[in-house]
Order: sequence, then C-alpha cells, then structure tokens
Amino acid sequence: MIGSVPVGGGAPVSIQSMTSTDTADAAATLAQIRALHRAGCQIIRLAVPTPRAAEALREIVPDSPVPLVADIHFDADLAVKSIQAGIHAIRINPGNIGSHEKVKRVAEAAGEASIPIRVGTNAGSLPKGLLKSFEERGMTREQALSEALCAAAAEQIGILESFGFDKIKVSLKASSVPATVEACRLFSSRSDYPLHLGITEAGTEWNGTVRSAVGIGTLLMEGIGDTIRVSLTADPVKEVRAAIAILEAAGLRTAYPEIVSCPTCGRTNYDLIPLAEEIGAFIRSLKEQRYTFRIRKIAVMGCAVNGPGEASDAELGIAGGPPGRVQLFRNGTITETIPAEEALERMKREIMTNIIKEEPSK
Ligand code: SF4
Repeated sequence: MIGSVPVGGGAPVSIQSMTSTDTADAAATLAQIRALHRAGCQIIRLAVPTPRAAEALREIVPDSPVPLVADIHFDADLAVKSIQAGIHAIRINPGNIGSHEKVKRVAEAAGEASIPIRVGTNAGSLPKGLLKSFEERGMTREQALSEALCAAAAEQIGILESFGFDKIKVSLKASSVPATVEACRLFSSRSDYPLHLGITEAGTEWNGTVRSAVGIGTLLMEGIGDTIRVSLTADPVKEVRAAIAILEAAGLRTAYPEIVSCPTCGRTNYDLIPLAEEIGAFIRSLKEQRYTFRIRKIAVMGCAVNGPGEASDAELGIAGGPPGRVQLFRNGTITETIPAEEALERMKREIMTNIIKEEPSK
C-alpha cells in the first residue's frame, strides 16, 4: 500500500507522476499536486533534495488528496526527515545513499512507519564493471544491460532484506526501450516484488509518449507491471494523460466515454479534426471536474456514407452531411441535420445532458 493505493498483488495498475515545483515551496507544490490529481494521477512523487524540502512535507502531506512519495538521493537524513513528516513512501537508490548503516536507518524508519521503499536501478548508475561482466559472457549489449539492471536490483533488494525490510517496490529503467522491456521481463520472471514501470529520459511530449506507450504498453500487455509513470519533458499533467491513454489502450482501464473518430478522407466535407480535438478537450475538462457519463461512446465521423454504420455502437455521434451541414446520429441512426458551424456547441449540449456530478473529494 502506498497510502490508500494498493500496488501489486493483483491490484489495478496505478498512475504516478512527479511534481516539477520546488518542494520547499509548499503552496506551489500543493497546487501542482491538485492539478495532477484532477487529471487522474493516483500517486505523486516529489524530489526532496534539501532539509527545507523535507520540512515543507509537514505542510504538504496532510493537505494532499493523493499519497506522496519522497524521492531521495544521497542523503539518509532527508529520507528519515521525510518519513517523520508523514510521507507515504520513499524512493531511494541504496547504492547511492551511502553506507549500509545509513540504509539501515532508512529501512528501520520506514519499517516503523510501515511504509514502502522503492528501489530503482537505472542504466546510468549501474555499479562499475557490472555491465561489462555480462558482456564478457558473450551477451549482446542489450541482454547484458537487462541482466545488469536485474542484478543491481537484486543486490539492492538484498541490502534491504538483510535489515528485515520487505515492503519493497522495484523499478528497472533504461532510456533504451527494448532493454527496459527485457529487464522488466527478466525481473518479473525471477521475483514477486511489485514493479514500477517507466522509460527513463523518454523525451519530449510526442517522442516520450510514443516511447513510453511502446515500452510500458508491451509489458502491460504481458501482464507485467503494477504502477506506471510516463516521464515526459513537459507539464506533468501531460504525463498523467498519456498514462491514462496507455492503460486504456492496453484494456486495463475503461474510459467513459470513449471518443472514436475517423481518419478523414476525400469524402470529409467539414472541419472534423478541430471538432474531434475540441470534444476530447471538453470531455477531459468534465472528467477533471469529477463528472461521470451516462454514455459510453461518442463518434466523430467524416461522412454519413460510412460514419454512422461504422460507429453504430456510439450512443451519440456526428458525421458530415450535405455541404455546410452535419448530421447527428444515435446508435447508428441519423436523427437530425444541422449547420456545420453549430456542431461543437450542439455536441457539448448533448454531452451535458448525459453527465452526473460525482461527490466532491478532498
Ligand atoms: S467515415 Fe467517411 S470520411 Fe471518414 S474515413 Fe470513413 S469514408 Fe472517409
């Protein structure tokens, strides 16, 4: 459990992201935490690089609507301070936090607070010589990297277990998608500890989303992975949207309503692409305001020749009609023809008649 969110043991795959604010600035960090929560994020990690940041956790943790993870590098004191401030989980790399004595202090504090620790191995910070030792056994660089990531994770787990600590979550990351996938496959075939999936240094919004979708998506489709973070060089809210889309595409989360739209072709005679984008943004904003939907599928199609038939399972749809006009359809049957310039407002009105407000959350 990370706070109230179960991770592993067959629990639904949860979505994580990380704040980009200065954690010492509690107000700014809480504002970003709330924005991430509204977007659908379930667990949020914060960098804790200074005593001031650890101190700010005392203000941030009680007001956060989701469980928080303190990301600690190099400093056991900061980990212990974060635990004392009520953090729900710690992310450390025992390899860079120092002596076994220091790791022991962190493990004991986490054990007393009954919170988990994530240990992460990263291709960029593997123990010296480890990668080479696998390459010398005749493995390709990718195989060697996967084995090295697994071996480093096993070593870190061993350190924590030697102190009687086993509330462990593991991540194995490389910026190479095939190496990350292979490392996670290997690890999950050898260990039952829950896995945090992510592609490190994935890139900017477009590249990072594609690389994460391929890497994380491949693993999820094989039943591997318990919680995911899409790392993007972008606003972290976009990471959450990408993570939700990956889970939906992998069939692990059902998005209501699903929006389907055709790719357009020479039969399209209205401006479909911005309409589909606007409807998507409208649905997203309603979800962020905690509305739920009575309709399961909305279709935005280019023409009435194929559109209503292809999207006959959509409770609500729109398709191009005669020049300058569009046609509304419901479950495959055209019910009305309206001017194309009224399409967006009309679709919004139709959607609004099919929503319910959820109970407000903290
Ligand atoms: S629905 Fe119509 S406009 Fe869209 S791709 Fe199919 S045939 Fe073309």
